[in-house]
Amino acid sequence: MSTSPPVALSIAGTDSGGGAGMTADVRAFAVCGVHGAVAVTAVTVQDSLGVSGFHPIPPDVVAAQIRTVAGDMGVDAAKTGMLASSEIIAAVAAVCDEVGIGSGGIPFVVDPVAASMHGSPLLADDALDALRTELLPRATLVTPNLDEIALLTDVKVVDDASAREAAVALHDLGARAVLVKGGHLEALSGRRQEECVDLLSVDGDLHEFRSERLDRPHTHGGGDSLASAITAGLARGMSLVDAVGLGKRYITRAVENSYPLGAGHGPVSSLWAAAL
Ligand code: PLP
Repeated sequence: MSTSPPVALSIAGTDSGGGAGMTADVRAFAVCGVHGAVAVTAVTVQDSLGVSGFHPIPPDVVAAQIRTVAGDMGVDAAKTGMLASSEIIAAVAAVCDEVGIGSGGIPFVVDPVAASMHGSPLLADDALDALRTELLPRATLVTPNLDEIALLTDVKVVDDASAREAAVALHDLGARAVLVKGGHLEALSGRRQEECVDLLSVDGDLHEFRSERLDRPHTHGGGDSLASAITAGLARGMSLVDAVGLGKRYITRAVENSYPLGAGHGPVSSLWAAAL
């Protein structure tokens, strides 16, 4: 290839099992047509059964990774995943301001990761406030699941009306656009859901993205993959609505093709995209 592709930057943790975190992010970036750069925030010790430990990277090293990539190759869009601590969040916020990521500049997707699907914490308890006050106001888009909404706001999403209320609460915290991911609604509402409905609130408009609910046990890394595919779309210059459409197509294929691995939950897949 003689021209440079768009660059998307993942600011996220590793997953030694290769299912979630920056491993999932870089796969989604590649499948969605952009080069993936990474600023590692934490190393997790992890397999299909869960996270048995994590080791945060020093905040100045996280910031240096972002600064050096932005300075050399440029960043067309960035996303955050696991941020581990309030100190790392503060360092990310400061360097994003320095290089022009977020706050209406380079598109910035904040996936407010708090815990793994097994319930292991991926963010220190005292860091939620930093996420609220330092990252949401800089975010082009925030992509919480329903558990994360309950942690960040006092809204419990159980239906369409409360999903809209959650979007308003997250806008009030400063996020320019909000994607309320309805995937966990069945567990919270106690009602069988035939579809997964994600609600995008942007520029005063609401857009629904619907897909058939797939009952798959292997969805590890799903949230990371969706946010990354959206980030890739933004790096390619798509509108937010089109980028979320791309994200939804990617995650639907990835869940459809998810595979068992190890004794626990396997990951969503990008292997269907292999051409060789
Ligand atoms: N590990 C890392 C490093 C992550 O960033 C994430 C999610 O963001 C997870 C694990 C959890 O993924 P899941 O909730 O799909 O298990």
